[in-house]
Amino acid sequence: MTQSRGTGVFGGTFDPVHIGHLRTALELKSRLQMSCMRLVPCSITPHRAQPVTAAHHRLAMLQAAVAGEPGLVADDLELKRSGPSYSIDTLRKIRAEIGDTEPLYLCIGMDSLGTLPEWHCWQQLIDLAHIVVAGRPGWQLPSSAQMRSWIAAHRVRGLEDLCQFAAGKLLLLELTLLPVSSTQIRAALASGQSVRYLVPDPVLRYVEENGLYASAGTA
Ligand code: ATP
Repeated sequence: MTQSRGTGVFGGTFDPVHIGHLRTALELKSRLQMSCMRLVPCSITPHRAQPVTAAHHRLAMLQAAVAGEPGLVADDLELKRSGPSYSIDTLRKIRAEIGDTEPLYLCIGMDSLGTLPEWHCWQQLIDLAHIVVAGRPGWQLPSSAQMRSWIAAHRVRGLEDLCQFAAGKLLLLELTLLPVSSTQIRAALASGQSVRYLVPDPVLRYVEENGLYASAGTA
């Protein structure tokens, strides 16, 4: 059996965390034989609308969701930082913690790959970590000339081509992504519908006990 090695980083607003996030995180951890996958809720999002729910609730729901799943960790490092939650700062912090030789995997969706050039210091991300892109079957690669040449410069075809390096490679992986979104869950809750089985039961309990998402905007 191959020994698990490497740390994954899967960021998001997690407002709330749902089975799409959790299944993807677990599948990536298993496919890349990571020792640990960190789910990192953001504080202030640089690229999209701000979360509607307070950070401590989003973190508590994530903690409840991963409790009992060894190797999935709710990491609050972006919540402890002031200012925008830039991935480059998160990777620098984790890299300093794990040292220079352990593989670090920044896990993103195919949609995010297209927006990568808008990320703060985007070209330095791959100096600190491998970038792993989770795509649905039949994905489309970004079409800009800049992204095409960046992809061609870094892309490898399989785990064996990247796990011996600590950083620097791009891997596109086909996963069966579940068609669930936090937006859909917030809307269902705001209109009084059940979200059972779309979020783990402990998350549902937390939502109910704290009266979250009962209206379109929540504290
Ligand atoms: P919202 O609907 O509020 O935009 P979301 O469901 O997209 O939220 P985020 O917390 O913004 O969730 O996403 C965190 C990460 O999880 C992103 O990389 C996003 O691409 C990914 N993601 C979101 N939904 C799914 C899903 N159903 N399957 C796999 N990955 C997902």
